Amino acid sequence: MGLFDGLALSVFKKAQSRISFYQMTAPFRTQKDFLSRFFEGCYFSSAEPGFAVKFDYRTNQIRLFQLITIPEKKGFDVLVVGAGPSGARAALRAAELGARVGLIDRVRIGGTCTNTGCVPTRVLAVTARLLRDIRSAGLYGIEVSDPKLLWSRTLARVQEVVQEVLAKKQTEERILASGGHVFFEGSARFISQKVLQLADTKRELHAEKIILCVGGKARRPNIDGVELGIVPEELFSLQQMPKSIAIIGSGYTGVQVCTIMNAFGSQVTLLDVAPVIVPSADEMVSTVLRDRFEALGVVVVTDIEAVERIEMTENGMRRLHFRKAGEHRVIEVEAVLLCLGWPAALEDIGTEAIGLETERGFLKVNRFMQTNLEHIFAAGDVHGRDMLVQGAHFEAMVAAENAVLGASLEHRSELLPSGGFTDPDHAGVGLTERAASLEKLDFTSASISYANLDRAIIDGRKHGFVKLIADRQTGRLLGAHAIGENALELIQGLAISMSAGVTLGILASTRLSYPTYSSIVGELARRMLAQNSAPTNEGLLR
Ligand SMILES: Cc1cc2nc3c(=O)[nH]c(=O)nc-3n(C[C@H](O)[C@H](O)[C@H](O)COP(=O)(O)OP(=O)(O)OC[C@H]3O[C@@H](n4cnc5c(N)ncnc54)[C@H](O)[C@@H]3O)c2cc1C
Repeated sequence: MGLFDGLALSVFKKAQSRISFYQMTAPFRTQKDFLSRFFEGCYFSSAEPGFAVKFDYRTNQIRLFQLITIPEKKGFDVLVVGAGPSGARAALRAAELGARVGLIDRVRIGGTCTNTGCVPTRVLAVTARLLRDIRSAGLYGIEVSDPKLLWSRTLARVQEVVQEVLAKKQTEERILASGGHVFFEGSARFISQKVLQLADTKRELHAEKIILCVGGKARRPNIDGVELGIVPEELFSLQQMPKSIAIIGSGYTGVQVCTIMNAFGSQVTLLDVAPVIVPSADEMVSTVLRDRFEALGVVVVTDIEAVERIEMTENGMRRLHFRKAGEHRVIEVEAVLLCLGWPAALEDIGTEAIGLETERGFLKVNRFMQTNLEHIFAAGDVHGRDMLVQGAHFEAMVAAENAVLGASLEHRSELLPSGGFTDPDHAGVGLTERAASLEKLDFTSASISYANLDRAIIDGRKHGFVKLIADRQTGRLLGAHAIGENALELIQGLAISMSAGVTLGILASTRLSYPTYSSIVGELARRMLAQNSAPTNEGLLR
């Protein structure tokens, strides 16, 4: 037995003892055919019959594979394309319901969320938060020297966290345990309405039902020099922190990255065509966040008419040309970040060839998460409804149940809390006052500043407020919005309250712990009840 074969056997035994190994499935005719197609550049050894160990010289990684032959003609009950939050959830649910499931992704499990979106961005937000806390330690009598960001170490931490989150999910193992299969063989593309082909191996997969969960991709505007800008996922490939950055787009991602780059010491200019930042948030949240950004040294430019072009200067800077108030303006920065939205990633899958209908760049679905082709369903960012993980998860459950059991389960637009890890956090759920007015609802609203909250004073985190919006007759919560320390967590509790139909009376009479951020909710409810006194507001009391 050679050195590598011995190693192969020990990898096999270790992996087998944990009952977790990679399963590489292929319609190969011979093992040699399989090896030449999949393991170019690798030393490959059979540890046991039916198993193989691969040593990749380029990455120095050793992996154990179980070799399985899939009869080429036999199809799947359900094929799920895309293994992000929606695809993974859809595949697991379909498998739970007894379907023979195939899950395809061109990269790996986790999708945008775990690999390049929520998880890595949140790690950067934690880093930013630590920097802010260390800088304010003096307020509490702790002497520290000015903290220094070690960007390459931060990026390593990002990858550690991503790996830990991926390992925890075990989506792949659970699909395999259900008798299903997982394929990482490049992009899937329709070659007919029930057959997908995988780009790397040209393998064709047949299915009775298909669930498309291919997510989206960052929008790049059609302007000269767009290639000189970066999109959020490319932040993680930067060799060093830019000293100055222009962020175009102040939606949820733009303001989150703005906070991070500001804390990392970059001079940030935040631009938007809207008159306010985070235009979809409560108006007061937008105003407080803008004030806070400006106090932290961010230059905020709203109401711009157009971004015209990006140029590279002789010394490698980016020159950004835009229009505002009819004037041509120019700024020079080290980097330009494009946060301009997230259209569906449909170009690789070949929707047009099989007649799948799209609308404004997204896949069109009905309330059963079903496309115009009745055997094809979709969930997550690909149809552009919620664009958040919690929405994707629910849509995936609906799509999977309808694919397996027949299209009968409706997707209802339930409460969807949203927000971001800015400084301070901001969040909201339910209606804004603007939306309640547009719907001509009879509502009452009030807010309390964090400056009035003992806990915020104790923590030295007095920026922000909480606002409640309630039905004037019944006292039921219609919306809640907050900006301030722990705002995102606070709004989750209010989302549960809203789902349960809780009234101001119940909130006012619940004994909430002191000193906490959540206790502000009880105080606010009591004030609203007092403001809306009888006779018209009996309904506010429980
Ligand atoms: C920077 C950033 C931060 C974010 N932060 C948050 C947050 O804090 N909270 C939150 O709720 N949401 C956040 N989001 C949004 C969240 O990431 C998405 O809503 C979520 O990932 C959508 O899940 P999905 O399954 O629809 O698509 P995705 O997660 O995008 O997964 C799609 C998968 O499909 C695969 N795929 C695509 N085309 C093909 C093909 N043809 N063949 C095979 N595979 C294919 C891709 O490789 C990918 O793995 C953030 C997004 C970004 C960009």
